[in-house]
Amino acid sequence: MMNNVRIKNREFVSIVMPVYREGEHIGAVLADVRDALTKADVAFEFVLIDDGSPDETWSVLSEQAEKFPMLRAARLSRNFGKESALCAGLEMARGEAVIVMDGDGQHPPMLLPEMIEVWRKGGVDIVEATKITRGKETFFSKLSAGMFYLIWNKLSGFELKGASDYKLLNRRAVNAYLQMEERNVFFRGMTAWLGFRRVQIPFEVAGRVGGQSGWSILRLLRLALTAITAFSALPLQIITFAGLLFLLFAVLVGAQTLYVMLAGHAVSGFATVIFLLLVIGSFLMFSLGIIGEYLGRIYDEVKRRPRYLVGQTIESAIDSNIPKNGLPLLQSLSVQVKNHQPSAVFRQYH
Ligand code: UDP
Ligand code: MG
Repeated sequence: MMNNVRIKNREFVSIVMPVYREGEHIGAVLADVRDALTKADVAFEFVLIDDGSPDETWSVLSEQAEKFPMLRAARLSRNFGKESALCAGLEMARGEAVIVMDGDGQHPPMLLPEMIEVWRKGGVDIVEATKITRGKETFFSKLSAGMFYLIWNKLSGFELKGASDYKLLNRRAVNAYLQMEERNVFFRGMTAWLGFRRVQIPFEVAGRVGGQSGWSILRLLRLALTAITAFSALPLQIITFAGLLFLLFAVLVGAQTLYVMLAGHAVSGFATVIFLLLVIGSFLMFSLGIIGEYLGRIYDEVKRRPRYLVGQTIESAIDSNIPKNGLPLLQSLSVQVKNHQPSAVFRQYH
């Protein structure tokens, strides 16, 4: 196994956070994360992706960059959604391990030293923090989340119960993730699809430290549809199967109708006709809808538009000479650090 690369003898970890309207409290969250990482004794960078927040989030990030010299950020040209923001963050991150977490304090930084320790021991590619409880939520959102995971699990064959987006991925897992080029991204599902060696660490979801959730019911529904269509073609096969059943039914009823007609009985059963029309009609429309969902997504994929566009970036001044893109480059970097004077560049790293 490859040894971990060190900066001043410490591993280099990226913290990726998508932020959307989190300006109010992001400073406090970052400070907590820094404290936890200091305990874990690693060098790190923050990679913050402002997902086109309409409020003051970006200017707050610029202020924070002065406080945290290891902060890098990108502002997407508009709101692309958390999943796309995560892709941006993973592409930008240079660490040998990348930790993805929410910017609202719901993913407790206390867990970071433990996650890093598990990774540090080696033999693990993905360390996942899994939810014991789902935190404060309405009954409706608990129920719909439960239903979604049940359906998703049955359709895709992957178990996501308790899964969260709070994860550590080593460089191998990040690179594998970046190879998946689809436009309809579902981070939780796609990291499950990666496989590799995984360890789970349970945690209790904290309350938001401020602001409000950026997800409306409609957006959640859209994500659920993306998640299902991206991982299973079973709904399409169900249509075929149901179509066959209807055909069988049609043959039976058709034979019976023919018999009644030939026997010369009077025609009755207007209600039956209406009923059949409604059932079959709605079934057809529903089927077309399902096909449309897949078709729309195929259209998205073939267009091959970029997953996101970056409007502005903040590059931290002190590390502009760390080459982009992780491990091999960092290796050459560690040589550079050794050969040159004590690394002024990294002194400010934590
Ligand atoms: N988020 C984002 N883009 C969005 C909505 C949310 O980048 O369009 C970020 C948000 O800033 C947070 C994370 O995704 O860091 C989780 O969002 P949120 O807390 O709103 O979701 P919840 O915890 O309610 O599932
Ligand atoms: Mg949240």
